[in-house]
Amino acid sequence: TRDPPPRAVRTTCPYCGVGCGVLAAPDGRVAGDPDHPANGGRLCSKGTALGETLDLPGRLLHPQVCGRRASWDAALDEVAEGFRRAQAELGRDGVALYVSGQLLTEDYYAANKLAKGFLGTGNIDSNSRLCMASAVAAHKRAFGEDVVPGTYEDLESADLVVLVGSNLAWCHPVLFQRIAAARALRPSMRLVIVDPRRTPSAEGADLHLPIRPGSDVALFNALLAHLDDHGLTDRAYVGAHTQGLDAALAAARADAAGAAARTGLDPGALATFLRWFAETPRTVTLWSQGINQSETGTDGANAIINAHLLTGRIGKPGAGPFSVTGQPNAMGGREVGALGHVLAGHLDWSVPGEAELVRRHWNAPNLATGPGLKAVDLFRALGAGRIGALWVMATNPAVSLPEGETAREAIARAPFLVVSDIMERTDTAELAHVRLPALGWAEKSGTVTNSERVISRQRGFLPAPGEARPDWWIIAQVAARLGWGAEFAWSGPAAIFREHAALTGLGNEGSRAFDISGLAGMSDAEYEAMAPTRWPVPARGPAAPRFFAGGGFPAPGSRARFVPVSHKPREEGDGLLTLLTGRLRDQWHTMTRTGLVPRLMAHAPEPVLAVHPEDAGGLEDGSLARITGHGGASAVLRLRHDPGQRRGTAFAPMHWTAQASPAARVNGTVPPVVDPISAQPALKSARVALSAFTPAW
Ligand code: SF4
Repeated sequence: TRDPPPRAVRTTCPYCGVGCGVLAAPDGRVAGDPDHPANGGRLCSKGTALGETLDLPGRLLHPQVCGRRASWDAALDEVAEGFRRAQAELGRDGVALYVSGQLLTEDYYAANKLAKGFLGTGNIDSNSRLCMASAVAAHKRAFGEDVVPGTYEDLESADLVVLVGSNLAWCHPVLFQRIAAARALRPSMRLVIVDPRRTPSAEGADLHLPIRPGSDVALFNALLAHLDDHGLTDRAYVGAHTQGLDAALAAARADAAGAAARTGLDPGALATFLRWFAETPRTVTLWSQGINQSETGTDGANAIINAHLLTGRIGKPGAGPFSVTGQPNAMGGREVGALGHVLAGHLDWSVPGEAELVRRHWNAPNLATGPGLKAVDLFRALGAGRIGALWVMATNPAVSLPEGETAREAIARAPFLVVSDIMERTDTAELAHVRLPALGWAEKSGTVTNSERVISRQRGFLPAPGEARPDWWIIAQVAARLGWGAEFAWSGPAAIFREHAALTGLGNEGSRAFDISGLAGMSDAEYEAMAPTRWPVPARGPAAPRFFAGGGFPAPGSRARFVPVSHKPREEGDGLLTLLTGRLRDQWHTMTRTGLVPRLMAHAPEPVLAVHPEDAGGLEDGSLARITGHGGASAVLRLRHDPGQRRGTAFAPMHWTAQASPAARVNGTVPPVVDPISAQPALKSARVALSAFTPAW
């Protein structure tokens, strides 16, 4: 319903990084929150169906040890003992946590504190590694810190919006609606789509560039060279606030000649894009997984940022490079540091003195001495016997990781596996020694941060089912059993948030962009009533209204860095197709929630493989087809002839899991190739063979 439901609480949608505000009532009625800055009352199909997911069958209601119901005390004792045993046998780094962008910031903070401060290992990584690690690495290389400079309003006030590797219409629908509404009011506003597929986002766009997969660096290098060649640069900005332009330009020029051939684009369309970008000061370039999930993802993101730095189009109304996150709280995980390569609160081991600040803030006896394993390597270490205890929270790596069978076997062979989840039988939970029932969206309270740095409250409005508990409470209980009760003795999420906020102000005289120390003094009541708040919120001095319009980068000399990047051609011509994986409009992750809503399933009831008719090898539209990829792993899907699919590529949704449709698990066909800088898996680079599938029945 669009009407505000009676007795509604203000909360946020748990599905994507747009972070829409939701008014939700215990009777299941939901409406968009008209006062939330992300959505102003809008919701997409998934958001409007939230009320239909409140009473999910298959909830995990009680702790279980070895498949049998156990008391909380017994299960928590078992977890503590399992982690103690693994560290006794394998050392500090013999344990790991694998967490999720579905966690609230307070849960994330507690998990990171336990791992890095008390277990003493950097081995905590998040499924956000699969989503936006390349954007994080690119921000850090260019700006000195992981900062998204723009806001959603910039997308509306831009004169040109370029979506790169983003089917925004389906993956971040409310943002796309905002752009569409702005274009309706201001028809001169242009929309350009850079995507190998003619996606729903490309319908109605002013220009669609069906780029060759993996050639984004070549495109934006061509742009950089074009801007410089034609004097279309902001020399004052570059001179005052950046460094490294010459090296970046040299690399760009090497790619610029022959860019049309490298990118596979029509020269006329390429020229139009270069001209439009050059002549439009108010340009936002938004990117998502099409850039990030690549073996050159970080370079691709830096190529985009380079073009914005050269034109000074950053931090200004209607202008900037803009990475959007997939998950509702991927940003919160980045903020607390729940990734293997960062410490906490944007503090870093590599900066002298920062580890000591964290150690003292946490009163941590065993602070990890350096970065830990990142997702793919973490599960390889598990398979190699170097991890003796793994705790998975709110995610399903048995189906979501590349090289699916290998990852699944590693998880199945884990000496000790703990899974905290709301569902009893996810593919990963099935393999767990201990299952811990966590609170779901409608029950838990805390904060999330969306793609435009707005921190919002998520508020519970239903009682906990069975014996389910908040993730932070579960983590604190295990910490107490390991002897660290005093450091985890929080009264609730407000206390955790205050501790997290205070950490961001330590040693920060404006040297780090992420600073919410101004929120560290909130009372419980103020936290409960907290309105959506964009960071920074420093305790000292005024908050910057915008980042980077006047320079001030959190980097040496306060200057941003142009990063020299070069196109790396991919293998082609082997008769195989490049498999592009992605999301559908009405599904989320591995469908553990959205797959249970009939009207959401109706949009795409079965997994479909889209290929250009001329790549179908004579297979008929509507027939069953098999794709065979890495290590001979295969998936079976319904074939669709799609003239909008770039020749040489195929598209398959990534949602179908081993449980929902064992034959259609496409991530299993993807090799475990990662971006060498971000360690983000290249989920959009698999080479697959297409063949007919004939059922045995
Ligand atoms: Fe939820 Fe994203 Fe849809 Fe907003 S756009 S309602 S956050 S899924």
